[in-house]
Formats: sequence, C-alpha cells, structure tokens
Amino acid sequence: MNAFSLSDLWNGPLGAVLSYTIILSILLVNLLVSIRLLLTRRKIGYFSLMLSLLILMTQYVQLTVFEFTQDQSDVSNFVAMLLKLLSFLLINTGMYQLYNPTKWKDSVVFLLCLGVTIAVSATYWFIPDWLQGGGEQIPMLKPLGMDLYLFLLIFVSFLLVNPRIGQNGKYQVMLTLYFCSHMIHMANMYLFGNSQTVLTKFEQLIPMAFHLVLFLFIFERIIEIMQAIYHSSITDGLTKLYNRKYFYNRVAQHIAQKINVSVIFSDIDNFKKLNDTKGHHMGDLVLKQVAQIVKEEAEEVGICGRYGGEEMVVLVTDSEVNANELAERIRTRVEAETIVTVSMGFSRYSKNISADELIKQADEAMYKAKTSGKNKVVAF
Ligand code: GH3
Ligand code: MG
Ligand code: MG
Repeated sequence: MNAFSLSDLWNGPLGAVLSYTIILSILLVNLLVSIRLLLTRRKIGYFSLMLSLLILMTQYVQLTVFEFTQDQSDVSNFVAMLLKLLSFLLINTGMYQLYNPTKWKDSVVFLLCLGVTIAVSATYWFIPDWLQGGGEQIPMLKPLGMDLYLFLLIFVSFLLVNPRIGQNGKYQVMLTLYFCSHMIHMANMYLFGNSQTVLTKFEQLIPMAFHLVLFLFIFERIIEIMQAIYHSSITDGLTKLYNRKYFYNRVAQHIAQKINVSVIFSDIDNFKKLNDTKGHHMGDLVLKQVAQIVKEEAEEVGICGRYGGEEMVVLVTDSEVNANELAERIRTRVEAETIVTVSMGFSRYSKNISADELIKQADEAMYKAKTSGKNKVVAF
C-alpha cells in the first residue's frame, strides 16, 4: 500500500472529494440563509434560489460519489449534466427574483427556458446521423449539445438578468467565473479527454470561488432588504419625509444632548377645501410638492418630517441657520410654486425644555399664524 502524502490532498480522488466537500459546506450555508430569507419574507420568489441550492448540492453529492464509484455510465453522466443546467437556470432565476417582484411574464420566460433546456437535454440520447463519429467519439459527442447550450444560458443571463438586478459587479464576476470554469471543462474534456490534472483541479477550484461570491451576493441582498425595511419604518410613504415617531425621537435625542436646535411647524392652509373641491388625488399631489420644497430647503441643515396629515416639521440642527429665514424661504416657495399656501411657526431650544414642549411651542406659533390671517411665519 502506498504511503499517504500531502499531495494526495491536492490531486486525485481525495483532492476532488476535499474540493467538493468545501463547496458543499458553502452551499449548505447558502441554503440555510436562503431558507431563513424565505421564512421571514414569505415571498414565493425566493423558492427558486432554495431549490437551485438543493439541486447544486445534489450535483456535488453525485460528483463526490463519482469519485468513489468511478461510475461513468451514460445515465449518471446525463443526470450530472442535467443537474448542472437546471441549477444554473434556477440560480439565475433566484438571483433575478431577489431583486424583482414575481410577474407572470417572468414565469413564461422561465418555463420557456426550462422547455428549451429539456429539449436540448434530449439531444444527449439522440445524436443526429451526420454528427455520429467513431466508437471513441460517441461518448464525447453525446453531451456536446448540453455543453454548448450552457454557454448560451450564460450569455442569456448577461443579457436578461444583469440589467435587472443590483450588485452587478458581483454578478458579472460570478458569470465570468462560471464561464471560465465551463470553458476549462470543455477544453479538458474535448481536447484532452479529461487527462489534464491541472485543468481538472481548476474545474474544482473555480466553482468554489463562484459559490463564495454567491454567498456574498445573497448576504449583501439580505442587508439591503433589512435596510429597506428599516428605512420604510421611519419614513412616510407618500411624502418620503421622516414619520412622526422618528422625528420626535430625533428631537428628543438632540435635546438630551443640549444642542441648540429649533423646530419649525407648518400646516397647509385650507387643505380640506382643496381636497373637497379638487379631489384627494390632487390633495396628495400638492402634499408631495410641499414636502419636496421642505426637503430641498431644509434637508442639509436639519431633519424634515411629516407630523400629521398636512403638517410638516423641520428640526433645524445647524446652529448657524436662522429658523425664521428658513421658514420664510419655504413659505415663499410654496406660495410661488404650488396652488396652496402654508402657515408656519417656530420655536428655539431653551434650557430644561422637553421635546414635547419644544414641538408644542412651534405648533402654538403656527396656530397664531393661522388665526392672524394664514400664509405667514410666526415666532413662539
Ligand atoms: P386650515 O387652513 O385651518 O389648516 O384648514 P385645513 O382645511 O387645512 O385644516 P383641517 O385640519 O380641517 O384639514 C386637514 C385636511 O387634510 C383633512 C384631511 O382630509 C386632509 N388630509 C390629511 N391627510 C391627507 C392625505 O394624506 N392626503 C390628502 N389628500 N388629504 C389629507
Ligand atoms: Mg391645514
Ligand atoms: Mg392640520
């Protein structure tokens, strides 16, 4: 019996099994993360990602078994190729769905690709007469259709998936790695009859890099989704300004640190009448316009929020900024650029004041503006 050497870990069946085990471990982590994603988001679209990972795992389990049994029968070769095609198709669908809502049109494209994949796979068993070669060539020619088709799938992914998802850099790296790996596989198989051990090693190592990048892709996407959830929990959907709770917390936070802030409180004049005469849709549109003006004027010097229905607020955090002048700028612009006017009040931080009191003072000042003719700015 030969002595075991370190190079056995790299070359030969043991090296292959080691590579496959590492890939399987990465796949397992990806699968667990995907299951978690599917369970929390309950979006059926995430199912294809999970399914593709399961198929990939089956594929690598099969490859590992190959190394022990050296089973090179037609059926097992065919199953390996089919799993490879299906997992590639599903993984790209999964990555697409991580960024897009499920639409029936996409399902049609997917089913079409699946149909073509199955049709192409059939060529494994039916080699046209004109392609038939000698006894040694047949086993090589059989998977040729499927092998070439995989290149087409890579190309289609670049064309269809890449422009419709985020993290394009990572996605392009993945497709390039996949392309290289498949290219090397083809060269090794069709040029060298699988005799080049260096190429075989590359065939095992490149997928490892591919699956690591896939892990980073899924991980990053989860962070993006979490950030989006957080963002929507602190903002108002219509105006995209911060919501009342977040605004209040930020005021409280600044006051706790005794920062010299001001609060501006604004309320659209006669808004109910506008809603009644021109409809809620028009009302919403005007709300968005006013919010946009508030944002443009105040975003860089403070925090803008929607406090209630048509009440917008600004926490002026930049102590260099004069709250009165800022409010006046907003009021003038609203009057000039929209079909409504706003009444505004503001109040400055003073010692021992609470967040509630500061906001209430600004609200009271706004009320004074309302009762003294509207479309004006009043200081507390
Ligand atoms: P004032 O000049 O005294 O402020 O009169 P007003 O009509 O603006 O005041 P009031 O508080 O009576 O009316 C506020 C209206 O704002 C009532 C509600 O229908 C409308 N409103 C609140 N939120 C929304 C919204 O999201 N969209 C639309 N279109 N209207 C809203
Ligand atoms: Mg109003
Ligand atoms: Mg109001």
